[in-house]
Amino acid sequence: GYAGPYIGRFAPSPTGPLHAGSLVAALASWLDARAAGGRWLVRIEDVDRPRCPPGAAERILAQLAACGLRPDAPPLRQSGRGARYRQALDELAARRLAYPCACTRRDIEAALAAQGLAHERHVERPYPGTCRQGLRGRAPRAWRFNATEYQAKMPPATGSQSPTAPLSIASDGIRWTDRRLGPQFQDVARQVGDFVLLRADGLWAYQLAVVVDDADQGVTHIVRGEDLADNTPRQILLQSALGLPTPRYLHTPLVRAADGEKLSKQHGAPPIDDGRPLQALADAARVLGLPPASGARDADQALALWAGAWARIYNPPL
Ligand code: GLU
Repeated sequence: GYAGPYIGRFAPSPTGPLHAGSLVAALASWLDARAAGGRWLVRIEDVDRPRCPPGAAERILAQLAACGLRPDAPPLRQSGRGARYRQALDELAARRLAYPCACTRRDIEAALAAQGLAHERHVERPYPGTCRQGLRGRAPRAWRFNATEYQAKMPPATGSQSPTAPLSIASDGIRWTDRRLGPQFQDVARQVGDFVLLRADGLWAYQLAVVVDDADQGVTHIVRGEDLADNTPRQILLQSALGLPTPRYLHTPLVRAADGEKLSKQHGAPPIDDGRPLQALADAARVLGLPPASGARDADQALALWAGAWARIYNPPL
C-alpha cells in the first residue's frame, strides 16, 4: 500500500447526470483511495454555471451514493470559490505571471494568419502572445497565464525521467510520469501558449480552478479520464507558479461510443442506470481491466472485491 497520507477526489462537471464514462473516473478514483487507505473527496466543478442545469449536482451525488461511492467529506462546489480564484490570479498578476488580454477570437485568428498559420477547425493553436507586452490602449477581456516567460525561466532539462522522479519542469517543457500512461512530455509554452485563467465572459477557467482546489483540498493523487491527460502539464506549470505541490496522476481509459468518439454528455451519452448500480459498476470495472466481482450481491460487496484487485493492478501509487 501507499505509506503517506492519501487524498483523492472525483471532480464532475454537473452539466448533466453521470454517464458510463464519468462513472469510470468516479470508480477508479474511489478504488485508488480505498486501496491506499486514503480519503476520497467529491468536488462539484460548476464554475461554468450557465452550462449546469439546476439539480444536476444533487443527481450526480445521488447516483454515486446508489453505487456505494460516498465522499468522506461534504462536496466542495466551485461556484462558491470565486474569491479564492481571484486571490490566486491577483498573486500571479502581481508577479507579472498573468496579464490581461484584449484579443477576440478574430484578433487571434488574424495574428495567427499573420504568422502564416491558417485557421483550422478543431486545431487548437497556441495564443500568439499579442497582449503579453501590454494592451496598447485596448480594453481587457480575459486574463492569461504567462506560460511563455514562466517556462523560459525554468532550468534546462537534466538527466532522464524515471517513475521514482516523476516530474521535471524545465525551460524546454514539462516531463511527468502518469501511473498508467507512463512518461509524458509537453512544451506548454510552444504547444499551448499563454492559456486563459479568467475568461472573457467573466467565468473562471478550469485550469486555474482545478489547480487551486486540488491544493486547497490537499489532494495528493488525481485519478481521472484520459481525455484530461494533456491538460496536466498546464496544471503542473500553474502549480509551480503558485508554489503548490504537484499530485500524482493516473488517467483512466475512456469509454467510447459506437462511432469511436469519447462518450460525453455533449455526445448524448445516457445517464447510468442507478436502479441497477451493480451492473453500472461492473461495466465501469471492465473498462478498468478489473475482474468480474463474482458472488457480490450488492455494490458495496463488489467495491470491496475490486479494491483488492485494484491494488494489484495499479499500486503502489508512488
Ligand atoms: N470537471 C472535469 C470533468 O468533468 C474533471 C476535472 C478533473 O478531474 O480534473 O471533465
